[in-house]
Amino acid sequence: MAIIGGGIAGLALAAELAELDGRLVERSGGARPELRIVLLERENQFAYHTTGRSIATFSESLGSPQMRAVTRASRTILDALGAESGTPLLRTRPIVWVADEEHLDRLNRLLTGNPALRAVDPAAAQTMCPVLRESVVARAAVERTAQDIDVDALQQQYRDRATAAGAVLRTAIGLETGTRDPDGSGWRLTTDRGELHAGRIVNAAGPWADAVAGRLGVTPAGLTNLRRTVAIVSAERIGPSWPLVMDVGEHFYFRPERGGLLVSPADETPSPPTDAVAVPRDVSLAVERATTATTLRLQRVRTSWAGLRTFAPDRNPIVGPDPRHEGIYWFAALGGTGIQTAPALARLAAAQLLDEPYEIPGLRLETLLPR
Ligand SMILES: Cc1cc2nc3c(=O)[nH]c(=O)nc-3n(C[C@H](O)[C@H](O)[C@H](O)COP(=O)(O)OP(=O)(O)OC[C@H]3O[C@@H](n4cnc5c(N)ncnc54)[C@H](O)[C@@H]3O)c2cc1C
Repeated sequence: MAIIGGGIAGLALAAELAELDGRLVERSGGARPELRIVLLERENQFAYHTTGRSIATFSESLGSPQMRAVTRASRTILDALGAESGTPLLRTRPIVWVADEEHLDRLNRLLTGNPALRAVDPAAAQTMCPVLRESVVARAAVERTAQDIDVDALQQQYRDRATAAGAVLRTAIGLETGTRDPDGSGWRLTTDRGELHAGRIVNAAGPWADAVAGRLGVTPAGLTNLRRTVAIVSAERIGPSWPLVMDVGEHFYFRPERGGLLVSPADETPSPPTDAVAVPRDVSLAVERATTATTLRLQRVRTSWAGLRTFAPDRNPIVGPDPRHEGIYWFAALGGTGIQTAPALARLAAAQLLDEPYEIPGLRLETLLPR
């Protein structure tokens, strides 16, 4: 089996698949042949693209109700992975969701049926983040269970587990083309480092998932890549334990980071798949909006970056076998919640690929199917 892409999707799947296969081989007393798993990553390092550019938040309020179910399932896995390795992967940082007068309806929708959130008045929000300006908070909600995710430790842990369980993870090798064997036994793949044969292919190529489909002669999923910009700005009087402040109107978010303030204009600019860079206009917008939302005097932009969040038309991930193309499995379109949903989605994908049962409570599987 070949997995294309070494971001969080591909790495989590390689680990879950290799470990589950190992258990099944053991259970069969060695009668079942071991699955050979190879992951191909085009860059010289894993997690170089979207996975390395997230703001690493875990929130049970993001995405569709289906994605919230997946996020809750991931929480259990992240806690267990942290406990097993002795390195906690999550650290509590509440989110304060703020709405101005114009976006009160959005806050109400966010609060509806969401046990993770509690409505608070503007004064309570300001107690948690004393630099928040009154003008941006007509009403607020607090998510106390939100977390910062240690993405480096998470992806490293998946890499270690995948390798220990027998998967081969390769960097600096990009898929170029693939054709189905005439006898239907699998796929013949051409890479920039030679040819290989795979029974099945998992498309975990993030922003390039549709391009990879095209290289395999597979119908694309109609994905859109949206660029998002983040900057870290110097400022005085930053409280390291302040929450992440998220505007429900999707104009800004900010939180303390490495002694400065991490800011984003929550931009969504369509982009072809590429090595995304922050454009100065978007960085300025981030600083401008954080200046409007806080009483801070923001100073020098220390660093900035951008990444591509990849969405299917309905904004749910695409995880499942391609109904039109034998031997192709999709693990793509993780959107803006791929770090927090990958643990449960990878466990689900591994089970499906090995014909084993696995259920995520509250998730209707058809929501994820390639369409
Ligand atoms: C600014 C920003 C903030 C975010 N914040 C959060 C957050 O707080 N919480 C959260 O959960 N998520 C967040 N996300 C979303 C999250 O980062 C993504 O959903 C997730 O990283 C997607 O992972 P992926 O493995 O699908 O894609 P990627 O990490 O992009 O990996 C795909 C890989 O495929 C490789 N590839 C492509 N084509 C080929 C080929 N032909 N051959 C071999 N390899 C190939 C690429 O090189 C790449 O490494 C954020 C994203 C951004 C940009």
